[in-house]
Amino acid sequence: MGRRRKQVVKIVRKTLPELYLCPRCGKNTVKATVNKARERAVVICSSCGLNSSFKASPNMKEVDAYCRFVDGYYGEGTVEEV
Ligand SMILES: [Zn+2]
Repeated sequence: MGRRRKQVVKIVRKTLPELYLCPRCGKNTVKATVNKARERAVVICSSCGLNSSFKASPNMKEVDAYCRFVDGYYGEGTVEEV
């Protein structure tokens, strides 16, 4: 019986972005990112592909971008394609 090397499993959970509920497909696969340098927020669902991008205010957070994404989806009925 030889020595077995323990496999190191890295947990990368900390770096994973927060996922939100998609208003279209209902899955928890919506990722919101805010690029402060470019003043741009991008929200995309990795499941159904629903996405939106818009100008981000300097203090906008990911969750704010997500709220706006949902508002846009229900409110205007149109989501700006990237
Ligand atoms: Zn979706």
